Amino acid sequence: MKVTLLKPIGFCQGVIKAISKAYQVKNANKDKNVFVLGKLVHNEKVIKDLESKGIFTLDVNSQDISEIIKKIDEDDIVILTAHGHSKNIEKLLDDRRIKYFDTTCEKVKENMRIIKDNEANGIIYIGKKNHPETMASLSVSNNVFLYDINEGIDYSKVIFSSPVVINQTTLSFLEIRKIHLDILNHLPSALIYDEVCNATRLRQEMLLSKKEDYEIIFIVGSIHSSNTEQLYRIAKDRYKDSFVVKVNSLEDVKKLDLSNYHTCLIGSGTSTPLEIIEEIKDYLEGMN
Ligand code: SF4
Repeated sequence: MKVTLLKPIGFCQGVIKAISKAYQVKNANKDKNVFVLGKLVHNEKVIKDLESKGIFTLDVNSQDISEIIKKIDEDDIVILTAHGHSKNIEKLLDDRRIKYFDTTCEKVKENMRIIKDNEANGIIYIGKKNHPETMASLSVSNNVFLYDINEGIDYSKVIFSSPVVINQTTLSFLEIRKIHLDILNHLPSALIYDEVCNATRLRQEMLLSKKEDYEIIFIVGSIHSSNTEQLYRIAKDRYKDSFVVKVNSLEDVKKLDLSNYHTCLIGSGTSTPLEIIEEIKDYLEGMN
């Protein structure tokens, strides 16, 4: 099969920094337990690799975070994820005198600063409900109102006439544009900030700029990865006549009957390891 890679591929800078920080912390604390509060980045292979090196992920969705922190020993070390964290988490860790390291991506931190600086005017935050970055951003101030990308917003609850509008960093810039129009329709004085991060935006723009047609488009990444999901949605919309499929590994690709396909494009999320993309590429090139 003829395979084309959608560039850029591999980790974004935020993911690279979070992973190297985690390994650095473990290397400097070989004799201690090192836990990540939630998924360091949204990719199962990365999480497995971390575990094989003694860096364990705590599932923060199954129970109250304060209960999880209570079970961590004072000598253990905690790593906070690249997506950001609710502001009460640092206090809970400080209260227990647990040492922690923050790997929040700079772009997410920048968003949080914008929220803090503008909280007096009110904030509309466009994001996906229950995503860790969204939950972290909502925790910055009581004046943040969620515009959920699937459910929308109840404008009657927004008590500010000219709120700042900001968004989760890993959404589709096309979908956000539509949401901005909806917000401006209801609140014409709203102040719009477009905060899709460059790593996410570039992949979306590169996909939209492709002139060629492909019989199959693979979008490689975890079901939990927001930017992978957005890239997949854009691909579905852009390549209506192609078979567009989201996969997480070579095993997922092997389950498909690809005997009638001859050209494909492989795109990937910002937390998808290069090895997975290369494995899939080699497998597909070996076909036909
Ligand atoms: S996708 Fe964007 S916001 Fe997320 S870690 Fe990468 S650079 Fe940071």
